[in-house]
Amino acid sequence: MSTYLGGVFDDALPEGRAAATITVWRHGVEARLEAGKVYTIRSEVLRLERGGSTGRMLFIRGQDPRLTLFSEAPGLLEEIGTTSGLEARNAVATLTAEVAKTRRATLSLWLIAAAVLVVLGLVTPPLFRVAVDGAVGQLPLSLDVKLGDLASSEITSFGPAITDERAAGLATEILERLRPHLPPDIAALDLKITVIESAEVNAFALPGGRMAVLSGLLKRADDVNMVAAVFAHELMHVRHRHGIRALVQSAGVLALVSVVFGDATGIVALLAQGGVLATLTHYGREHESQADLDGVALTAAAGFDPAGMPAFFRKLKEIAPSSEVQEALSWMSSHPSHEERIAAIEALIPSLTRGEDPPMNHTLEAARAALRGE
Ligand SMILES: [Zn+2]
Repeated sequence: MSTYLGGVFDDALPEGRAAATITVWRHGVEARLEAGKVYTIRSEVLRLERGGSTGRMLFIRGQDPRLTLFSEAPGLLEEIGTTSGLEARNAVATLTAEVAKTRRATLSLWLIAAAVLVVLGLVTPPLFRVAVDGAVGQLPLSLDVKLGDLASSEITSFGPAITDERAAGLATEILERLRPHLPPDIAALDLKITVIESAEVNAFALPGGRMAVLSGLLKRADDVNMVAAVFAHELMHVRHRHGIRALVQSAGVLALVSVVFGDATGIVALLAQGGVLATLTHYGREHESQADLDGVALTAAAGFDPAGMPAFFRKLKEIAPSSEVQEALSWMSSHPSHEERIAAIEALIPSLTRGEDPPMNHTLEAARAALRGE
């Protein structure tokens, strides 16, 4: 059983509303105010509605017209569907169907607009981007997960996964420290990171939040701040859904249409030549700088030293000439225009407020010892 942050609209309250913690029981949905007052809307009279400025606010009503519970917390609707009584489950099913219908309708409009523009050859690149951004914004995050799954088998092609707790635990601890500072819908994804044995200095994130870091990167980084910087940068590709955008850019709007409306076999065939992973992580320049700037802000919010990001960029440059294996620096080669990026990141750092920095349970030193087989 979970609790969700939300609130209550009640005419009897001094301001007409108050924050509340929402809990789902079999017999109904309960909202508890900080002051201790408890409201319950019984399952058999429950009515649900989505709305608000984001369209994601869930409104929960019963028979009393003066009382409404509300919450934007992800997972609440699903929990009402699984926990509460049959009548409430029906209310959830009706709402889910309605939301899917409107979402599909809005989405098709965007996609049709984008496709028509392409067909007519009317599109200048910026206009195309606007159409794509509009369409991607309407897509459910479950599509990102689906796309990420398509590429996940390619992760293991880099090398075997390292399960030693000193290395795997460090990667997970850094990821978990960043997670709460992501927007709620992204934080609620099944974010996961695997350490893979490989000399490459590389890390990547798939749409939907599956991540991998190659052990070469852990060996080359000077401290956890550098590792956190790379993770945060990659997480921002997930958060801004750059994978889907990269897909549309390389395979076209029709590829997206096929993923949304049909099964994904068509797109797998389409991408087979180039590899799904390569397509989904082939980001444009703008996406890279967005991931840099939002990423460095994320590291600071999570209490890491934001200077880790420019330091890591410099480090890559410095080890580049001595590197015997060209792929050893794949993260850098996929991230061009070094100097400008470092300058932009460093210009942002003074404005960032660094969050609390609790001691880590895992250290980079111990992780490295594990990688050396000690
Ligand atoms: Zn990137």
